Amino acid sequence: MADMITPNFSVNEMACLCGCGIAETDPEFMLMLQELKDQMQGPLRVCIGRRSDYHNDGVSAAKNKKNAVYNLGQASNILISGERTMLLFEKARKVGFSGIGLSQKGNHSSRFLHLDTLPRKALFRY
Ligand SMILES: [Zn+2]
Repeated sequence: MADMITPNFSVNEMACLCGCGIAETDPEFMLMLQELKDQMQGPLRVCIGRRSDYHNDGVSAAKNKKNAVYNLGQASNILISGERTMLLFEKARKVGFSGIGLSQKGNHSSRFLHLDTLPRKALFRY
């Protein structure tokens, strides 16, 4: 059995992709992600969970890397495209995520929705 953070999200799934082993996430964020998963009826595939500061500095496209969110454990990108994207968007708002980012161009397999719980309201696209 994989180590689980919530019933449906494992430590491995949320871990930094550089292999450093950092996987700590904000408990409130993870509860909300689980709530969203419960409401979505079907898989939610995380493509970015936690990032270490080091990894984030290397890959973040944000101009001000201090504003990055993945290294706070309060953000995740969910691979999703097609009709389920709208459903996920609506439910994410109701669950209370404060930041939602849309990437819905190009190859369906790489489209995603960004979710975070930073203390502000933001809707943006990539
Ligand atoms: Zn890392």
